[in-house]
Amino acid sequence: MSAEMQNYIDEAEKALLHTYNRYQVVFDRGEGVYLYDMDGKKYLDFVAGIAVFALGYRNEAYNDALKNQIDKIIHTSNYYYNLPAIEAAKKIKEISGMDRVFFTNSGAEAVEGAIKTARKYAYLKDGCTDHEIIAMNHSFHGRTMGALSVTGNPHYREAFEPMIGNIKFADLNDFDSVAAQVTDKTCAVMFETVQGEGGIHPASEAFMKKVRALCDERDILMILDEIQCGMGRTGRMFAWQRYGVKPDVMTTAKALGCGVPVGAFLMTEKVGANSLAAGDHGTTYGGNPLACAAVSKVIDLFQEQDVLAHVNRVGGYLEERLNDLAGEFSCIKERRGVGLLQGLAFDRPVGDIIKRAMDKGLVLINAGTDIIRFVPPLIIEEKHVDDMIQILRECVAEAEGERQ
Ligand SMILES: *Cc1c(COP(=O)(O)O)cnc(C)c1O
Repeated sequence: MSAEMQNYIDEAEKALLHTYNRYQVVFDRGEGVYLYDMDGKKYLDFVAGIAVFALGYRNEAYNDALKNQIDKIIHTSNYYYNLPAIEAAKKIKEISGMDRVFFTNSGAEAVEGAIKTARKYAYLKDGCTDHEIIAMNHSFHGRTMGALSVTGNPHYREAFEPMIGNIKFADLNDFDSVAAQVTDKTCAVMFETVQGEGGIHPASEAFMKKVRALCDERDILMILDEIQCGMGRTGRMFAWQRYGVKPDVMTTAKALGCGVPVGAFLMTEKVGANSLAAGDHGTTYGGNPLACAAVSKVIDLFQEQDVLAHVNRVGGYLEERLNDLAGEFSCIKERRGVGLLQGLAFDRPVGDIIKRAMDKGLVLINAGTDIIRFVPPLIIEEKHVDDMIQILRECVAEAEGERQ
């Protein structure tokens, strides 16, 4: 590493709050599926800013759309209409089949909105303020207090108790554990269609269908968090579209704006008409013209480039290559995932392997301590998968060799 880069890292450690143990690299620019650090070293990127930069770096059409919008207007208030938000709302309705959208600045805020929607929906039915939400163990919904309250990872929550009240936890894909938590006060069952941070666990079709039936029967809202698994990553625009089961409320963010901070929560007409009303919820930035110009362009580009067909093809290829690799090493227990949201579960912590990969110019990330997660830009090609597998194979072999 150059002295200059080391200097910047030292400065960062003096100024930024130490909430991350960062890798020792300062990224400077990107090009397609590659990142470059400030020393000019090139990296193949299988993280995409954690499932964000779906269309690749320096996408010209995307960058031009943002530049044009910057020259027109970046921000107005939600007290007025703006064209990019109207366009983006129309398009996100089309790709999701949902009816009403509220734009936020982040995933966590979308989750907050979904929680408020569920509580208000139940409140309008019985006037009570003691409703319960069932969330899942090993889930991840964000770091704000509401989102943290439904995040099924006690490590993230402990120091910040008390959480918001009346949250119960069940196990993904164990319908009986959900049914056991249901009471007359339950207003929502909430989960990620594919658990991301918790280790790449897709919901099973049987689980999705049973939860849907339960929610229909008892007028409970089914909330799906599609922040990581949505926007094409599983080969459908939203992962739930694989199951023939539609949520009442869903959240999205990450790849929605491909790098511009934006999220959204969406709902059916029925929920929209019977929950949040004027004065109940708001945001200064959410859905501003710049963010929505990004959303609008992202959705256009997904369609023009037929990103879904591409993900289905390359995702299948990644799955095969990861299966092969898992077969080569006894320390790899399992491959899990769908499309370009994949995980390799190891029998040991993976931090060492990820560090070795960084040295060799491959950016990977973990999900939990023992799982390597693969969330590359959705535009990767088979040859990038081959390059990644070759480097990863070397890293795993070296890490294994060192242990013996
Ligand atoms: C990243 C993530 C969030 C939180 O999104 P932020 O934009 O970081 O607030 C919520 N849910 C899931 C499933 C996520 O992957």
